[in-house]
Amino acid sequence: MTCPCGQALVGFDDTFIPTVRKHLTDNHPGHEYDDDQILMFASSVSDDYVRQQADG
Ligand SMILES: [Zn+2]
Repeated sequence: MTCPCGQALVGFDDTFIPTVRKHLTDNHPGHEYDDDQILMFASSVSDDYVRQQADG
């Protein structure tokens, strides 16, 4: 997903939500979303794309 602040947030299913939560905590204190809301914002991308981002 792309955060409204412009930061791209990517991760596998089991790491995506913690990744988003960390970004929110670090960059948007006061904004709390539950898992369902995060997944609603998220758009699926291919695993290859995620790996490319992770390898950075
Ligand atoms: Zn953000």
